[in-house]
Amino acid sequence: KLSGRLQAVASHIGEDAVLADIGSDHAYLPAHLALRGRIRRGIAGEVAKGPYESAEATIRETGLQGKVEARLADGLEAILEEDGVDTVSIAGMGGPLIASILENGKPRLSGVRRLVLQPNIHAGAIRSWAMANGWCLTDEDILEEDGKIYEVLVLERGTAVYDDMQLRFGPFLSERQPPAFRKKWEREAASVRKILDRMQEASPSAERDTKEAELKRSLDQILEV
Ligand code: SAM
Repeated sequence: KLSGRLQAVASHIGEDAVLADIGSDHAYLPAHLALRGRIRRGIAGEVAKGPYESAEATIRETGLQGKVEARLADGLEAILEEDGVDTVSIAGMGGPLIASILENGKPRLSGVRRLVLQPNIHAGAIRSWAMANGWCLTDEDILEEDGKIYEVLVLERGTAVYDDMQLRFGPFLSERQPPAFRKKWEREAASVRKILDRMQEASPSAERDTKEAELKRSLDQILEV
């Protein structure tokens, strides 16, 4: 059974997609979708040998050879032109790493129409990348599982301009504000407040003032949203 986090990613993969799941580890996501006939074909890209072998094992054990293929490759290098990949998913990594995988492999995205991304932290790095590269958000999700809160970002081709608040909080999430969203930012506000309190005890310095001003701005944004 797929985790709630990967189920949320799966729910944004279009019917009949040709999917490349990058950093697939056990290939649970493409295998789950292929077993249910939800995708036409899947590629499980992995840069590391161990996870790549886990992906191969999942494919073998589920009899999905021919439907899902594991590839040992760095980032989007797992995608070949003849694959006809139209959807890319990248889940379970930090936002900056996901953005750098997209940035480094941009030419491989030429036939891709949808990106489904699940950053564990710093989703803003992905929204900034999207805005700079002709992608726009078409949906966002947020969920809590085992005490952790995860965001899912869906990108399609298009231009959009996001302000600082939208980059940080997400244009859809900040509009809808589901309970997990409120919880995430309440937690974040509490942690910023704690740091600010502790900073009061440090001896004054220009460095402390800069850091303090930065944290106050961050807290103000959270309170505003
Ligand atoms: N996507 C799965 C999930 O969400 O459960 C696995 C997430 S796991 C924490 C991250 C995986 O990404 C690791 O198996 C790692 O080897 C892989 N990875 C990291 N950087 C990568 C890259 N540049 N190209 C391909 N895979 C990468």
